[in-house]
Amino acid sequence: MISLCPNPNPSFLHLHHRHRHRRRPFFVRSLDAAQPFDFESQALDRLNAKSKLKIAVVGFGNFGQFLARTFAAQGHTLLAHSRSDYSTAAAAIGASFFRDPHDLCEQHPDVVLLSTSILSAADVLNTLPLGRLRRSTLFADVLSVKEFPRNLLLSALPSDFDILCTHPMFGPESARHGWAGLPFVFDKVRIGESEERISRCNRFLEIFEKEGCRMVEMSCAEHDHKTAESQFLTHTIGRILAKLGPEDVDIGTKGYQTLLELVQNTCNDSFDLYNGLFMYNKNATELLDRLDVAFTELKKELFGNLHDILRKQLFENPEESNELIKQPKRWTCLVINFCLGLFVRQNYQVLL
Ligand code: NAP
Repeated sequence: MISLCPNPNPSFLHLHHRHRHRRRPFFVRSLDAAQPFDFESQALDRLNAKSKLKIAVVGFGNFGQFLARTFAAQGHTLLAHSRSDYSTAAAAIGASFFRDPHDLCEQHPDVVLLSTSILSAADVLNTLPLGRLRRSTLFADVLSVKEFPRNLLLSALPSDFDILCTHPMFGPESARHGWAGLPFVFDKVRIGESEERISRCNRFLEIFEKEGCRMVEMSCAEHDHKTAESQFLTHTIGRILAKLGPEDVDIGTKGYQTLLELVQNTCNDSFDLYNGLFMYNKNATELLDRLDVAFTELKKELFGNLHDILRKQLFENPEESNELIKQPKRWTCLVINFCLGLFVRQNYQVLL
């Protein structure tokens, strides 16, 4: 839109008085400035306002705040509630913090986003006075397991509420430089058929699309199957390595650096999160068993080789063995090897 106005230059006004009969020329003063009669910009404002959501983040810890920062940056109205008092952190983001869940629900958010720990999700959901929300509220969650919240929300929420289960496959650590290209998994578990409900769900998903996430629609069951193989395995290896207390060494290989990063990435998340991945993903137990078998097989392979060498020394080169026996140091070595062999046979059933 082009805004026109008479030239405000006084010399021009003087000239203008002398030549009243002339038509007043207009000059371009600004481009695209919103004017009361500017219907184009008014329509745009209305469209923008319509696309904005009122989102209540329930569970305003590490991940809840991380998400909220981007929601706020995109211009959505943010409400927050948590067990702890996060009023200051919320104010810094531009969110309103409600200690009392009743006050939160009376604000009638469009979306309630469950971002509590997996272990506390059921208890937290029970504390929400659902009757104070609008009947058509959209409930979404970001729990790192999916079948559990799906079943929980389906059983706990009135049938009028919409349900969207999601899992942003990244965290404050791995996505500290942005969300572009990172996978965002979602399952539209129950979205009403009305245009308004469909649009509300899509507008929520668009938040992640706008940040460049790779949007992946899949069932909660498929998600849990795949993440046991990837996410739970990653966290488990990271936590096993952490128990070894690896130290940064100045001649560490690239592979070793990757291991150190893995330890940092996984151990920065709470143990509750890891525990939740195990407790609430039925595929996790099987993965742990397979990991155990794989480790045992690997050790068998190593100790089996060691034992073969020892047997060769004992039975195939008896002269050398006699020599060995005469040398106390090498004899000690032989005994240690023999004990090791026994230990392996006992623990890993390696046949002589
Ligand atoms: P978390 O340890 O899984 O959860 C912390 C949140 O749970 C805090 O808001 C905490 O509230 C709340 N909470 C814990 N125990 C509670 C209890 N007994 N009663 C009430 N609230 C309780 O850490 P997180 O990283 O913030 O993760 C939050 C959710 O996002 C989890 O479901 C996680 O699986 C999911 N997620 C996390 C990541 C990630 O990278 N971190 C990525 C994707 C999805 P207070 O702080 O108020 O105590």
